[in-house]
Amino acid sequence: MTWANKDKCAIVGIGATDYYVRGKSWPRSIYDLAGEAILKACDDAGLSVQQIDGFAYYAGATAGYVDKFDTGSFMETLGMPQVSFTAALTSGGGGSAGAIGLAVAGLTNEDCKYAVTVTVMACQQTERARLGASFGTMKPDPESSFLQPSGLAGPGHLVSVLARRHMHLYGTTREALGEVVMASRSYSQNRAKAIRKSPLSMLEYEESVVLADPLRRLDFCLETDGAVAVITTTAQRAVDCRHPPVLVHACAHGASREWRRSGEHPRRASQRNLYHRHDSHRRSGRAGPGRGDQPGPGLRTRPGDGRPCADPGFQPDREEGLMRQALKHGPARLLPGEQITIATSPDTEPFWQAAKQHRLTACQCAACGHFRMPPTAFCPNCSSRDKAWPTLSGTGTVFSYAICTRNPLTGEDFVYVPVVVDLDGAPGTRLIGNLTGCGAEDVRIGMPVSVEWTEIRDGWVLPNFRAG
Ligand SMILES: [Zn+2]
Repeated sequence: MTWANKDKCAIVGIGATDYYVRGKSWPRSIYDLAGEAILKACDDAGLSVQQIDGFAYYAGATAGYVDKFDTGSFMETLGMPQVSFTAALTSGGGGSAGAIGLAVAGLTNEDCKYAVTVTVMACQQTERARLGASFGTMKPDPESSFLQPSGLAGPGHLVSVLARRHMHLYGTTREALGEVVMASRSYSQNRAKAIRKSPLSMLEYEESVVLADPLRRLDFCLETDGAVAVITTTAQRAVDCRHPPVLVHACAHGASREWRRSGEHPRRASQRNLYHRHDSHRRSGRAGPGRGDQPGPGLRTRPGDGRPCADPGFQPDREEGLMRQALKHGPARLLPGEQITIATSPDTEPFWQAAKQHRLTACQCAACGHFRMPPTAFCPNCSSRDKAWPTLSGTGTVFSYAICTRNPLTGEDFVYVPVVVDLDGAPGTRLIGNLTGCGAEDVRIGMPVSVEWTEIRDGWVLPNFRAG
């Protein structure tokens, strides 16, 4: 079905700051960076900043993972007399395209005439707030306490677990991951402001340090500071702007690739796509590593083109084992318990109290029997608040894993293996911990594990896992 707002609005101006290597924009403030982008976007559109009366923010109005924008501050800073529409998307990651859709909502509803989206990146990072290690350095909260102790320290680490699962299911190779990186680098040569533009060879990719096996440093996003602003208005008003308007055919946020909303094929030459979609991870383990996926028989992915092809003889685990011979990490160790802190809430406290007694439990709905982890106030299946805490066997199987090489808190070389474990006796629940009792190279998806208890700070006890 074609999007109801197709072609009703248009992008009329784009502005951006220079891009900075991570942290190098300091001590400029986020309002300084974003303000420059907005003023440049206004100039591009042939508008005065006083004409802007709407804001549509990307990802919860965040600037990076720490700071948040405030419309009142923009009005003060830039001298904007009236803003009649201001809204923000939820969640992190895939919001740059979604924010355009949010602006369209305000424009078509006549809540504003010219909406600015400070969308793609208005991100300023410091050592404390590095995007790549953002989860590892945050103060723990009751939900993140089910993820943070595993050392999956940032978006790249979380994607490493997803990448491993993808390799397992589809036979995606390390070479294919390298081709994605090389393609991204080649695109940067078209962009004047790009920081790294030199062509990248597969050899350079393979020599890149492994941060969270299967992902290398070059697989991770290049961490940059900088701001981009986009100005959107109605198609009618757009004709009076400086440049030919770029009509917004369709917009979808946080959904699958709904190209059909535009009524056109994505490869059609007349169309330009603004596409930004991080994997739908969240900081909890609940939605992180995906669920319900099953391997297609003999499906693998051709390096580079992403298309599956039938290959009945293909054995992804065997090929992965052969490839990994060159990557020796040593024994899998647990992150030091004295560095780990957790936080609890009334909903999660019973889990941790049971752990103190070396009893593994999972949150089960007392009304309908549905399991959920991390524990939450309501059962997502029947809305009941009543919980049961059955004692589990403490065994499970590895759903996915990563091999990480640096302590997220200290930065020192340290091999640890975050594992996502399907828990026996609690269907649909997974727990994330570290694995020990084998070499990091010996971990496999599907291998059996059993719980191992680790004393952490403040007298709490953390469930980790041991091979076998
Ligand atoms: Zn229920």
